[in-house]
Amino acid sequence: MTAAICIKCGEFKLGAWTACPKCRALPRTEDERALALAMTDHYFNPETLEQMAQSIREGRPPHLDSETRERIVRELRTADKTMRKWQQQAQ
Ligand SMILES: [Zn+2]
Repeated sequence: MTAAICIKCGEFKLGAWTACPKCRALPRTEDERALALAMTDHYFNPETLEQMAQSIREGRPPHLDSETRERIVRELRTADKTMRKWQQQAQ
């Protein structure tokens, strides 16, 4: 499973869109989900993730550059579409 960082408190957790074990934050909006997906070992190495976690703990939320954000949102929408297709087929 994916190693991820909570976008609210910087705690390490498993899976980008799971609830944080510490603060229970759950990414809901597209922006939050894109940021949550970005802050996983899928996109960054452990050292960078640790730095991001550190900034969040210090009250400085990470900022995605628009290029990265756009790429992730695109992946997010593709994933959503695939998921909906599966759900429709399952019905
Ligand atoms: Zn948290």
